[in-house]
Amino acid sequence: MKSKRIAIAGAGVAGISIVKFFVNDKRFSERLKIDIYDAPATMGRGYAYQHDDDHLIINLPAEEMSLTADPDDYVSWLERNGYQAESYTSRRVFGEYMHSTLTALKEGHSNINIIKNYADNITFNEDSETYTLHSGNERRDYDAVYLMTGELSYSDPYELKGEPDYFYNPYPIEENLNNLKGRIGIIGSGLSAIDSFRYLLRNGHDQVYVLSRSGEMPAVRGTYFDIQPECLTLGAAMQHEKDGLIPLEQIVELFIEEMTAQGLDMSLFERKTDRPEIDLKYDLEHMDTVGKLQYLIVNLEDTFKTLFKYLSRSDKRKFLQDYHPYINGNHSPMPPHGAEQILEWIDEDRLIFMHGMDSVSADNGFTVTFEDGGSENFDILINATGPVKNIEKDNTELIQNMYDALILEADEFGGALLSKDHEIISPRFGTLGNFYTIGALSAGSDYLIRGVGMLSKETEELVSHFYNTNGE
Ligand SMILES: Cc1cc2nc3c(=O)[nH]c(=O)nc-3n(C[C@H](O)[C@H](O)[C@H](O)COP(=O)(O)OP(=O)(O)OC[C@H]3O[C@@H](n4cnc5c(N)ncnc54)[C@H](O)[C@@H]3O)c2cc1C
Repeated sequence: MKSKRIAIAGAGVAGISIVKFFVNDKRFSERLKIDIYDAPATMGRGYAYQHDDDHLIINLPAEEMSLTADPDDYVSWLERNGYQAESYTSRRVFGEYMHSTLTALKEGHSNINIIKNYADNITFNEDSETYTLHSGNERRDYDAVYLMTGELSYSDPYELKGEPDYFYNPYPIEENLNNLKGRIGIIGSGLSAIDSFRYLLRNGHDQVYVLSRSGEMPAVRGTYFDIQPECLTLGAAMQHEKDGLIPLEQIVELFIEEMTAQGLDMSLFERKTDRPEIDLKYDLEHMDTVGKLQYLIVNLEDTFKTLFKYLSRSDKRKFLQDYHPYINGNHSPMPPHGAEQILEWIDEDRLIFMHGMDSVSADNGFTVTFEDGGSENFDILINATGPVKNIEKDNTELIQNMYDALILEADEFGGALLSKDHEIISPRFGTLGNFYTIGALSAGSDYLIRGVGMLSKETEELVSHFYNTNGE
């Protein structure tokens, strides 16, 4: 292979995995020069695993979090480094593991270079088919770029950004949420809301309000089952393929057969009442059934990922609207001890859930109005509603610049428009060879490829594609 310069923007799970797959390939040589960009605090950690409170835990057992080909790598690293090899480690500790994985890759290879700065813009040079990455005052040219910048920027559903005592983005929690005084409301009831109220209630606050539209919380992780899908297999689904598409109704039918074959009742999907004190208790009391459902979904991840690409536009829409919420509601569950603690706090009246949130007005504090017409006042509001999905709404310099320059186009199902090989399709230049992305930016074409497990595997294809298309 001729000499090639490769830029990786973003050194989180996906960026580190890209470096790992480059290095582990037998075609890797000194002729490839890799620069990896990220801010100092997140370099080699990613956004979710930076330095923060130790009680922010990963929602996956350590045994399922290896970043290398050895499935026990994380557990062995924990033992080697004097950490307790407990099942649910803190996200900070996982960040240390990620960082040490990147450091080892860098130290072993003089052609891997770390640049502690963000990429502000990436432009395409049509004549030479190369890319220029702009970072502060620096400009560097590359033959290939991996855009691994993770989640899009935070959403702001009530447009409160800039208001005093409004926390648009709670992370890092230890830095932002310490020493708050007054009546606190957290907007949202997902994993970021859990992080926020766990921190506040463990650090001297008597009471916190959780405000949301629906009140639905993540499920509780049930018992582990090694489930082999019997009915919803790729082979069975492919029987229905015609003109490159598989009708959604056939996939749903196979899924229902699968549930029956596994002894699971479809009514499990309807178990949530959106009242945490009932829902969390239900999951804790039915660990086997709930676990079986969750691990069936986990074991179907690869199948879903492939089948998603075979859905027509209208079926994709229908799937995301009608079925995805059920998969999602059982996909990233919280650890059981976390759920038990939440139930205790509810019981002690320290955690108060209010749903049906409708609007907020800010004037010397905040007034939150609910669908039933009632309202409540808060001194502080913490936004835990998560990132936007549409790149048009992203407010980071890099994505805004590339969107504005017609390098990126929005995919109607989230993220950017991509080829099947994860290369960016620009509305101005067409498919951009050697310009890859995956993760939140590939949400429209990749189903569920956001978590550590999937990203650390799926990035291999992006590296193989580069090696296969860039000659010997
Ligand atoms: C608070 C939180 C908790 C989570 N907990 C879990 C969990 O427990 N389990 C799980 O599986 N998933 C969890 N996730 C999902 C998480 O997003 C994925 O696990 C995974 O980290 C995504 O990997 P990534 O490489 O795509 O993004 P990240 O790991 O976020 O990495 C992207 C990196 O790109 C950098 N970056 C951004 N813009 C630029 C730029 N312009 N130039 C250079 N670098 C840039 C960022 O600083 C970041 O370091 C969590 C997410 C969040 C936000």
